[in-house]
Amino acid sequence: MSQSIIRVNQLHKSYVTGSNSLHVLKGLDIDIKQGEMVSIMGSSGSGKSTLLNILGILDNYDEGEYYLNNILIQKMSERKAAAFRNKYIGFIFQSFNLISFKNAMENVALPLYYQGVSRKKRNARALELLDRLGLKEWWNHTPSELSGGQKQRIAIARSLISEPKVILADEPTGALDTQTSYEVMDILKEVNDSGITVIIVTHENDIADMTQRVIRLKDGLIENNQSNPIIAPSGQTIYANS
Ligand code: ADP
Ligand code: MG
Repeated sequence: MSQSIIRVNQLHKSYVTGSNSLHVLKGLDIDIKQGEMVSIMGSSGSGKSTLLNILGILDNYDEGEYYLNNILIQKMSERKAAAFRNKYIGFIFQSFNLISFKNAMENVALPLYYQGVSRKKRNARALELLDRLGLKEWWNHTPSELSGGQKQRIAIARSLISEPKVILADEPTGALDTQTSYEVMDILKEVNDSGITVIIVTHENDIADMTQRVIRLKDGLIENNQSNPIIAPSGQTIYANS
């Protein structure tokens, strides 16, 4: 079995607003191996985005431990967090989060701008990725000129440009029709086949069924953590993590 890329021990998170405190994550234990493709499910408000934001070092946790690539991630400066994110993490969001006044190539290239890569180099790399995702001829279109599926493919290209170890996707198919959702899942599977760990938050069963394992959150705890059956070519059922 390969190495853990994400390991969480007894993770707690509360949101405090005024005199109210909402205990969202109540002691989670999670272990995700390098190269896995995992989905996180749970009803609305169960803490899926909260968990993903902690894993992506966009937010702090209160108690427990989070190891990313065996490095303990604790409260740190925004500068240091950004450096970790650049090195390890790519994000994909339901609403794509593309910059409306930049074209596809510039959107994809953006993470490299923040890393100080020259315009020529970052645009060349962005075009390569757009080509890989079948969007080369759309490079100079702005998001408003693109379909939802095209926008999400651009967001995937952007998430890949800094060669992350982990892709964190928060309901990446939530704004797409079924056909387009499956196309996006096919791309995420290819990304996973290249060795990148993929973690997808979803509330759609058919999407979760396309991942190797489903982690189900309920009332701040893990209700269920189960490998999906894989039907081998022989027709024999095998399990991803056995
Ligand atoms: P999910 O993604 O599973 O729908 P979230 O992680 O977004 O759930 O939210 C979990 C709970 O925490 C919800 O009750 C939500 O209202 C609350 N919450 C999320 N973010 C904040 C915040 N920044 N401040 C206060 N409460 C929050
Ligand atoms: Mg959410």
